Amino acid sequence: MDSGKNLQIAIDGPAGAGKSTVARAVAQKLRIFYLDTGAMYRAIACKVLKKAIPVDDEEKVSKLAEETEIAFDHDAERHIWCDGRDYADEIRSPEVSRIVPLIAVYPRVRKRLVSLQRREAELGAVVMDGRDIGTHVLPKADLKIFLTASSAERARRRWLELKAKGQDLTLEEVLTDLETRDKQDTERAESPLRSAADALIIDTTGLSVDDIVCKIVEYVSDISEQGKEKSIRNIGMKN
Ligand code: C5P
Repeated sequence: MDSGKNLQIAIDGPAGAGKSTVARAVAQKLRIFYLDTGAMYRAIACKVLKKAIPVDDEEKVSKLAEETEIAFDHDAERHIWCDGRDYADEIRSPEVSRIVPLIAVYPRVRKRLVSLQRREAELGAVVMDGRDIGTHVLPKADLKIFLTASSAERARRRWLELKAKGQDLTLEEVLTDLETRDKQDTERAESPLRSAADALIIDTTGLSVDDIVCKIVEYVSDISEQGKEKSIRNIGMKN
């Protein structure tokens, strides 16, 4: 591991691949900070809706992002404080999910949030999940993971999650929303969703959260033991 730098674990992937569940569990196991960067984009989208700012008004949306203070509880929970208010619940609404990729394309919105994300990584060891963590936010992360799963599987997981929260969407609606969001995230010009060249790609279909978390924790101890000389790419998946 890079001496003088805090441990950084980057977890990227499309919606519903299990990033936040896995990232949170890894953070808990390693007793380090978890940062859900999607929640930050969602918080801005939430404010855009509250203030009735047109989503296509790039100037107003960007200014709003630049003026917004975002803070986190430094534990493995998902509390996000936006201008002093806990936004944890409302950022998960279907309306927010629908507009968040539209505001995430704006360069000034990304610049603001990326600078907050990097600031958090300077405070201590971190597991960060998102779309551009390994490629852009933390290019020197000690471990980069790209989680994926079939869109049918990802939609089924998201649908069960929403159902448990009492949100009444059909599986088809969830699948359509998820595929639309993936397309928008993959095709945008600024920091699109893709795996870093040195990321380990893990298909989570059929794997339990525990299995994935154990593998990641194993990789982290491998890195600590072997130092940076051995490239992560060469470690490979262990069965
Ligand atoms: O991770 P989550 O699904 O909550 O992210 C919501 C949206 O925020 C994504 O679909 C994407 O548009 C945006 N996002 C992003 N870059 C990140 C994290 C999220 O563009 N690092």
